Amino acid sequence: MKPSPPFASRLDNLKPEGAYAVMAEAQTLEADGRHIIHLEIGQPDTETFPHISQAGIDAIQAGYTRYNPPSGLTELRQVIADSAGKQRNLQINPNQVVVGPGAKPGLFFPTLALVEPGDEVIYPDPGFPTYQAMIEVAGGIPVPVPLLEGNNFSFNLEAFDNLVHDRTRLIILNSPSNPTGGVIPLVDLEHIARAAKDHSIWIISDEIYTRLDYEQKGVPSIAALPGMLDQTIIVDGFSKTYAMTGWRLGYSIMPEALAERIGLLLTHSIGCTATFTQIAGAHALSSSQELVSEMVADYKQRRDRLVSGLNAISGVTCQIPQGAIYAFPNVSAFDMPVRQLASRLLYEAGVAVLPGTDFGEYGEGYLRMCFATSREDIDTALERISGFLTAKI
Ligand code: PMP
Repeated sequence: MKPSPPFASRLDNLKPEGAYAVMAEAQTLEADGRHIIHLEIGQPDTETFPHISQAGIDAIQAGYTRYNPPSGLTELRQVIADSAGKQRNLQINPNQVVVGPGAKPGLFFPTLALVEPGDEVIYPDPGFPTYQAMIEVAGGIPVPVPLLEGNNFSFNLEAFDNLVHDRTRLIILNSPSNPTGGVIPLVDLEHIARAAKDHSIWIISDEIYTRLDYEQKGVPSIAALPGMLDQTIIVDGFSKTYAMTGWRLGYSIMPEALAERIGLLLTHSIGCTATFTQIAGAHALSSSQELVSEMVADYKQRRDRLVSGLNAISGVTCQIPQGAIYAFPNVSAFDMPVRQLASRLLYEAGVAVLPGTDFGEYGEGYLRMCFATSREDIDTALERISGFLTAKI
């Protein structure tokens, strides 16, 4: 049989997201009767808050099931401008807000809009795997900057200074970070902002975990530094803060002229985001935030339980993540590639975790574990991991 015609080369380096791959492997073991604790997937273990789900159901019943503008419902863009502005101490106009199905389109489309083939893009390593994928699809050159444990997993500014120059087109930041839980301090943001201004570089600031902030001091945003909103795209959404991962709703905030262009990309790709989902999202932002505060307080306890349990295991050291929902323990003392260690933990101990290398080469020596899971599961996972690392390695 004749082979199919070739695919475009922009697909060459696309890889699956580790979390989905490990979850599928874990589910195969479960189908064989094994009991697996899931710490691999990054999503809240709670259902969407009931009042938000009800707002979505009411919207469907009221007939909000038709097309709406590609950049989102006017009322949602207004609510986002108000609440995201208040969160960051910024004045945001609804025309700067672009709504999409999840936070991911707010990462992907601006990258397509700003990066020419051959442009360099700086991004965090370890970092969310979508960054490298979208840079490569846009034809850009991925330039990883290491996040170092000794530096609270902030950008390594020395490496950054050596890598940033006039061919850098875009810098991607993620604070609080997936997978490290690190928060980039204000002084580091000021340093990065100076370089971005000097070399005229765009910033995509992925702030999807900004509300999951355990120190409650407020996570600083680079967009709030003087003049930076003119060259920054803030990315945020509903998936983590409101336990709405499956609803597919997120947004990005950027200069109006760029927002208009991104609106055209949305027009010709997704068309628009589901109308009833947006109505539920508007309700999520404009109603009481009490349940979010309770969830964050609860995650903080689970974080402490997991992190102290990990630090009690000989050979494991784990920083306290300041935000997001992940612990990122250092397991380099076991002298085994983390891909192999993660696989043995799954098959021999029944605990699904991700190797740090799923987030880039600087993730070697680390594992990622999601603590947005029940206390019972955290305790069982710790017993199993401890038993395995003590007895078998
Ligand atoms: N950015 C980061 C850092 C994430 O961890 C995730 C989800 N895992 C996203 C973006 C994508 O969010 P959404 O599901 O809303 O598209």
